[in-house]
Amino acid sequence: MYDIIIIGGGGAGLSAALSAFQKDIKIGVLSQNYPTKSQTSMAQGGINAVLNTDQDSIELHIQDTLKASSNLASKEMVELMCKNAPNAIEWLNSIGVPFSRDEHGNIAQRKLGGASQKRACYAQDYTGLKILHTLHDQCLKENIEFLSDQFLLNFVVQKDQIKAIITLDIKSGEITQIDTKSVILATGGYGGIFYDYTTNDYISTGDGIVAALKNRAVIEDMEFIQFHPTALKKSKALISESARGAGGKLVNQKGERFVDELKPRDEVARAVFEQIQNSNEVFLDITHLGEKYIDENLPQERKLSILYENIDPVKDLIPITPAVHYTMGGVAVDSNMQTSIKGLFAIGEVACSKVHGANRLGGNSLLELVVFGKIAGKKALEFSKNTLHDNSISKSKELQNEQDRIEKIYNYKNEINFYRQREKLGELLYKKCGIIRKKENLQEALSTIKEMKRNLPLMGLGDKSKKYNQNLIEFLKFINSLEVSELIIKSALNRDKSVGAHFIIN
Ligand SMILES: Cc1cc2nc3c(=O)[nH]c(=O)nc-3n(C[C@H](O)[C@H](O)[C@H](O)COP(=O)(O)OP(=O)(O)OC[C@H]3O[C@@H](n4cnc5c(N)ncnc54)[C@H](O)[C@@H]3O)c2cc1C
Repeated sequence: MYDIIIIGGGGAGLSAALSAFQKDIKIGVLSQNYPTKSQTSMAQGGINAVLNTDQDSIELHIQDTLKASSNLASKEMVELMCKNAPNAIEWLNSIGVPFSRDEHGNIAQRKLGGASQKRACYAQDYTGLKILHTLHDQCLKENIEFLSDQFLLNFVVQKDQIKAIITLDIKSGEITQIDTKSVILATGGYGGIFYDYTTNDYISTGDGIVAALKNRAVIEDMEFIQFHPTALKKSKALISESARGAGGKLVNQKGERFVDELKPRDEVARAVFEQIQNSNEVFLDITHLGEKYIDENLPQERKLSILYENIDPVKDLIPITPAVHYTMGGVAVDSNMQTSIKGLFAIGEVACSKVHGANRLGGNSLLELVVFGKIAGKKALEFSKNTLHDNSISKSKELQNEQDRIEKIYNYKNEINFYRQREKLGELLYKKCGIIRKKENLQEALSTIKEMKRNLPLMGLGDKSKKYNQNLIEFLKFINSLEVSELIIKSALNRDKSVGAHFIIN
């Protein structure tokens, strides 16, 4: 029996683990991949906090966040996040995150889109990687237990309270029940379901949301999906907003600028998309920043451009396109990060904590992970200390149901290749539920998704082995992607008016 199980080893999960840690408390961090491979490692641009009150103020950070959110964020939650931001940076700095420095030795800050001041603290353009690795080192130092290669299948909830989780052990193929007094869900977002049209890893298929949904937790704002204006044209690898923050210009093939590059992401992404719809090509121009600046501040952007587009941004224009980048919807939480299921907390991109509303401000996700991760750790600890050990659960019906479900999947026909369907789903979502939406397109997409769901028994596995069966994991993630897609489209159909990242025309 665990006191706290944290599902997800990204920035959110590891921040929560460190905050909940006490020598006499049994904590396990469980994840599909090894924690250092989590998507947090891909974050480039920075993490927001007001550090210099001469030019900036917490009130401005709050106002920028609310404005970017189209005023759909909760003022109370935004205040909670922004007021705790300076402490979060101080803490990260104290545990060894190697932030870049300015000429006075202070933590350097840069301006990202939608921000009125230079507010994003960064470690070159490897900010997420450095934060994640530092958190991981600290967890190792505290001997926090890692349960890697474990895939979340479901929760066991009795009388509205979490009792256990059901996981598939990827190494052995066994399906097991892990009893716990509380759970912190930190499985990341669902941008990966857009497959070829996203900056995200395919691991981000909203698995935590699906488990929460199976147990009737409240899920909110699924229609709000943020497109980043500057992904590389071919690979969709991200070119960070810090490139525009430093003065990068967006131009079409005629050399014309067509938008204020530092507007919030939803507006810039739509402007780029419209150019492409009008048969223009769009480029990011950072040549004027010079090689020294680029190598010092944007080394990853240069490497990615050379690797994936075969161009060097020191002298060439970078071909770009908008791509899905961040998902604002998720499992609804209150200011204690408590979901509608007792003992189940949610943090990071899997949660809908109402700090991003209809459009997230760049640099606020990493901040949310740390600030809300720390709150969730403390609250889960409190909850577990006040919860008695329950030895009545033994083997639950959910365990049996999941064992039966996986057994059935092994017997599916494998007549339709689901990998092809996964690509088709990404394309369908991009075209019918993308930057600009239409009701009839959404309805068409919904019926295609329902058909894909009906066809699942005709899909299935080529590899029938039990141990390390990645074919099975990918299929389970595809099933979850279909559930999440249905949720997104139903939520989009319920919102008639355009707001933020949800832009709908007749
Ligand atoms: C390219 C890129 C650049 C970005 N840059 C920035 C930036 O500069 N600033 C900023 O604020 N934000 C940025 N973001 C957003 C930010 O990085 C993410 O929102 C954030 O890192 C998500 O963290 P997380 O801890 O919630 O989830 P993740 O880091 O995605 O971790 C999820 C964890 O859950 C586990 N998991 C998933 N499914 C399962 C399952 N079924 N069973 C068990 N475990 C599972 C995974 O193994 C992983 O450990 C960027 C995002 C991308 C993609």
